[in-house]
Amino acid sequence: RTPLTVIKGYLETLGDSEQMPKNWQHPFAQMSQQTTRMNVLIQDLITLSKLETQEREPAREQVDLGSLLAGVLDDAKALSAERGHSFVLLGDVNTKMLGNAEELRSAFVNLVVNAVNYSPEGGKIIVNIARSGHGVEISVKDNGVGIAPKHIPRLTERFYRVDPSRSVLTGGTGLGLAIVKHILLRHNAALRINSMLGKGSTFYCDFPSEALAA
Ligand code: ADP
Repeated sequence: RTPLTVIKGYLETLGDSEQMPKNWQHPFAQMSQQTTRMNVLIQDLITLSKLETQEREPAREQVDLGSLLAGVLDDAKALSAERGHSFVLLGDVNTKMLGNAEELRSAFVNLVVNAVNYSPEGGKIIVNIARSGHGVEISVKDNGVGIAPKHIPRLTERFYRVDPSRSVLTGGTGLGLAIVKHILLRHNAALRINSMLGKGSTFYCDFPSEALAA
């Protein structure tokens, strides 16, 4: 239980109380919502600082990419809910990788959650696993709002957002892609971004051949 969990608990109890004056309900709901956002922000900052300070070599466990990504897409489906996005997993789904499963999951969750948040209702999200002589490339493609070229080099900076007012709606922290970049670095992998304003974006994670399990 973090300090914020305690605060949120009290806010919810008070907000539900019969004694609560009607005109206080809205501010209480807002305080509760902002506490949730603050919690996400702190979790992301902790994740990022851990990634930055830990030894560079992550756990080299065998990771089944197909089932890891299928799980990520199941969670994203729940997040999308009535917004009705569709999700497809394609490619070499039997690929096994060496890496840190928890970190890899976190990186792909960030990319898929962004694909949902920056796509209109009913958007289509395609995750593809492509093996090649150079290693394995995992891509997350959406047909959403897209990103203008001038922003692309800066997206992995902490707190960088193309449209800060929009991020209030999506509940983002501006730390997601910084986390992705660090996790990929720890796996000797790189992030590539291809995007067209109004058409959609594809985020590619390129892992070297050493990352492939025998
Ligand atoms: P946030 O919490 O704001 O989503 P991120 O670090 O995950 O932070 O992303 C940084 C910014 O990159 C976002 O605010 C958004 O402007 C842009 N972005 C990320 N993913 C996408 C995407 N799939 N489509 C369009 N823009 C995106």
